[in-house]
Amino acid sequence: MARALDRWYRRAALVVWPRGQGVASRTEASPGWALDELTAMARAGDVARAREAARSLESFWHAAGRYADQTVLLGKALEAARELDDAQIAAMLLRPFALERLVPRARPGLRGPGGALRSAEGNPSITAARRIVDLSWTMFAGQVGPALDGPLTSRHEAWLTALGAPCSGIIAAAAQLGSTGVPEDARKLTRTAGDRAHVLAMATLRAAGAHQAGFDEPAIDCAERIRVLLAQPQRAPGDWSIELPAGCACDLCEVLGTFLLHSERRALDWPLAKDKRRHVHTRIDDAELPVRHETRRQGRPYTLVLTKTEALFERERLARGRHETDLAWLTGNC
Ligand SMILES: [Zn+2]
Repeated sequence: MARALDRWYRRAALVVWPRGQGVASRTEASPGWALDELTAMARAGDVARAREAARSLESFWHAAGRYADQTVLLGKALEAARELDDAQIAAMLLRPFALERLVPRARPGLRGPGGALRSAEGNPSITAARRIVDLSWTMFAGQVGPALDGPLTSRHEAWLTALGAPCSGIIAAAAQLGSTGVPEDARKLTRTAGDRAHVLAMATLRAAGAHQAGFDEPAIDCAERIRVLLAQPQRAPGDWSIELPAGCACDLCEVLGTFLLHSERRALDWPLAKDKRRHVHTRIDDAELPVRHETRRQGRPYTLVLTKTEALFERERLARGRHETDLAWLTGNC
């Protein structure tokens, strides 16, 4: 056991070490070996290091899509992705396999899910491909779904936008293979309330391109959601109310939340000890609220000075413009 772990750590150290060219070229020669190693590493309990090692594959991992036995490799990639339990790494590991390529080319007259379903009857390779796509979706939705709750920060926006391509790949493959579970599930995902779900849905539709089979209903959902958002009254000039996202119910957050929600108050001078100031900073920064925080280093305790910024109005204006562009694209009017 100890020796196996030792060997394992040496290999892992080589994989994460940029100068470990021997291991990097071995990975290029055998992506299956690399995936087995990652799975074993995670199963041995060292998930953090396995994730680090997986990230180090990123620059050349695209080559994995050119190897023979794609179905075997994809199976290994799915296994590693499940063990590593990180949506970004999962997307990276699965990206080379272009799931839509597993789908047999549609014959004339057999286009659309119904046709694909009929042609799939009794064809073991299509049944296997469908199972793999179903698995991909389960893994994808299992990791992304729980992260759709909460406020949209720039970090979430970048992450969810990057997931548009793998998400659309799985949905397109499922539609072609006649899977019914995935499209239904995907629709649930695109109908999930909130800004994060909307970003993922739009990124998925953009990655799929306009008017693709399997994306009609999500496109309708998205357009409908945008219409609702655009129909909401615009923020009045001079309305400075900001909602503090849920996440902490302490006394400090209650004071902060009340100040933020006040539509006329723009600034707050708040004498506060250091660790309490830090808690308030963290809440503001984590949610990327349009609020400047400074410490006036006078008196005891120092005073935390909070000021709502003009970005509050600018962001809403930009979001509105983006919704208008997206709606025009969805309805084919651009
Ligand atoms: Zn708090």
